[in-house]
Amino acid sequence: MRMIELKKSDPEIYNAIIEEIKREREKIVLIASENYASRAVLEAQGSVFTNKYAEGYPHRRYYGGCEYADIVESLAIERAKELFGAEHVNVQLHSGTQANMAVYFSALKPKDKILGLSLSHGGHLSHGSQVNFSGLIYKTFSYGVEKETGLIDYDKVRKLTKKHKPKMLLAGASAYSRVIDFKTLSEIAKEVDAYFLADIAHIAGLVATGNHPSPIPYADFVTTTTHKTLRGPRGGMIMCKAEYAKAIDKMVFPGLQGGPLMHVIAAKAVAFKEAMTEEFKRYQLQIIKNAKELAEALVSRGFKIISGGTDTHLMLIDLTGKNITGKDAETALDSAGITVNKNSIPHDTMPATITSGIRIGTPIVTSRKMKEPEMVVIADLISKVLDAPQDSTVISHIRDKVKALCRKFPVYEDMEE
Ligand SMILES: *Cc1c(COP(=O)(O)O)cnc(C)c1O
Repeated sequence: MRMIELKKSDPEIYNAIIEEIKREREKIVLIASENYASRAVLEAQGSVFTNKYAEGYPHRRYYGGCEYADIVESLAIERAKELFGAEHVNVQLHSGTQANMAVYFSALKPKDKILGLSLSHGGHLSHGSQVNFSGLIYKTFSYGVEKETGLIDYDKVRKLTKKHKPKMLLAGASAYSRVIDFKTLSEIAKEVDAYFLADIAHIAGLVATGNHPSPIPYADFVTTTTHKTLRGPRGGMIMCKAEYAKAIDKMVFPGLQGGPLMHVIAAKAVAFKEAMTEEFKRYQLQIIKNAKELAEALVSRGFKIISGGTDTHLMLIDLTGKNITGKDAETALDSAGITVNKNSIPHDTMPATITSGIRIGTPIVTSRKMKEPEMVVIADLISKVLDAPQDSTVISHIRDKVKALCRKFPVYEDMEE
């Protein structure tokens, strides 16, 4: 990351980047949907491929000079196929939401019915929320999680599916900490002749390494982001059965997008190669071990976790017994150097701008090589902040401890200039 030219030509942006490097380095970031990509991924994304137009697909382009773009995109596709065992892959999606859009547009007509996990119970905006295109274009229904257990009740999903007869059943979540039974959901979809889409945006890294059951054998379509547990560049991807390959590719380009982001696709290819290593497998396993340890340490300090714990990289903390809102918890923790996001809990009585919960995840701290002992320390720091969110002495004391811990687990060292 040498930024010699940028420093001279645009000090405002240069300084913001320097401050962002410091923020990422000096805070404990527990945002479950984020990760710190490798230097190799950042270098590929910062490459001259940002200059290149490559509309079309490898060896079928609408531009000249695509010989190296072809190499990059072909490698990205082949690596993703191998990594996930997919029949067909499209790596051109700019985001996870666009991946879902391309699947819907290729398989559904406006006003068709879709059934997915409710946003307020851990689902994603693009699964039919009324403030999203998916809710505007399609007739959407949702299933939730049980109040007592925090779990999806698959018999209830089956009943709802029989009742609403959706054209597409959706699985996948942004704030669900337990294993999702893709096989059962695919069977439920079949019973009403619905398509089955599995959105693995959050858990892609776990799926790629066998740490969460893969939906690939069961789903018509699998969508994902590449920047969450998968630790690649910000972007999306679609995997599907061979029979849908043509329709998906046509819908992505020319249907929804013009030129692909070749620099991002180069970085995706790099991330997929990294994801095929033994080291990455160990990394994903450690993410889960860390999440379990953190959850246990929080429970033992009196915190309530939705579903009681986690099988994945994340957990949802129910703050209703703690006399603090999600919003205030987020603010207090961030001022102590611990970054989380407020998150609605299932059956939340607070609006989405306030909430009664926080979501925390371990991908980033695990990327920094923290292990179980550090999770206990982090749980302790979180607990101390949330016990005294207004106490500036406590907050500044914790802030120092956070900085000291971060120095022991360096990241993006010598990145400035
Ligand atoms: C993050 C996420 C997405 C969307 O990703 P963007 O790249 O932000 O559009 C889609 N589905 C699920 C389940 C997600 O968690």
